[in-house]
Amino acid sequence: MWIVEIYQSKQGEGLWTGKYSIFVRTLGCALRCRYCDTPYAQQDRAENWEEEGEEENGIGANLSAEEIVGRVLLLELPHVVITGGEPMQSPEIVELTRLLKDFDYQITIETSGIVDAPVLCDLMSISPKLSNSTPLKTEHSISHEQNRFKPEIVQSLMLRYNYQLKFVVDTPNDLNEIEEYLSQFHGVVAERVLLMPQAVNVKTMTEKATWIMPFCEQHGHQYCPRMQIIWYGNKRRT
Ligand code: SF4
Repeated sequence: MWIVEIYQSKQGEGLWTGKYSIFVRTLGCALRCRYCDTPYAQQDRAENWEEEGEEENGIGANLSAEEIVGRVLLLELPHVVITGGEPMQSPEIVELTRLLKDFDYQITIETSGIVDAPVLCDLMSISPKLSNSTPLKTEHSISHEQNRFKPEIVQSLMLRYNYQLKFVVDTPNDLNEIEEYLSQFHGVVAERVLLMPQAVNVKTMTEKATWIMPFCEQHGHQYCPRMQIIWYGNKRRT
C-alpha cells in the first residue's frame, strides 16, 4: 500500500475537530478536484518522489498493513485518520483497518465517497464533490465529472457507518446544489451535514462564514471551519 506520509497532528475538520490523531495518507486518487489541498497524494504527482528526496523524509513508501501499524504504534495516540488521496481505492485498507482494530484504535476514514470497501471504522467522513470541484479545461475534466458522484456508494456508506457528510463550499450557488444533492438520499441526519468554506487563509474563510453560517442554522447543518489553517496556516502535514 503506497503511503505518502504518516504524522501526528490535531484533526482540524469535522465532528471530531481537536482530536489528537495519527494521520496515514495514502497515495492515489481517481479525482482531480480544482481545489485539492493534497495534490502530492495524486499518483501522477508522485513519480518524482525519489528524485525529490521524499524517501529521505520517511514518506513515499510502499508498506504492508503490518508495517503501517508498526509505524502508527510508535506515535502513541489512540486515534488514526486514514486519508489521502482516496484511501478507499487501496484494497489493502480493509486489512489495515482490521489490524488497527486489533490494537483498539479509533479510526476515521476520509473519503470522497466514490469507492466502497468493507473497512472497519468509527467515523466515515464522506466529502462528496460538488460541481465546484471539477477542474477547468484540463485533461482530467471529463473523467472527474463522470466519476465524482456515486450516489449508491454514498448511500451505502451512510447506512453502514457512523458518518459525516462534509461539503466544500466555494460560492453561494453551491448551497442550492447541496440541498439538491441531499434530497437524493434517504435518512440524512441534518446535523451530520457539515459545510466547510473553500479557503486557504483565515480572511477568506471568515468572509465565507458570513453567508455559510446562516444557511447552516436555517437547515440544521453545521458550519465546519478548517481549524488547521487557523492553528498552523496552510501547511503540509497539519
Ligand atoms: S478527492 Fe480529495 S485527494 Fe482526490 S483530488 Fe479531490 S480533494 Fe484531492
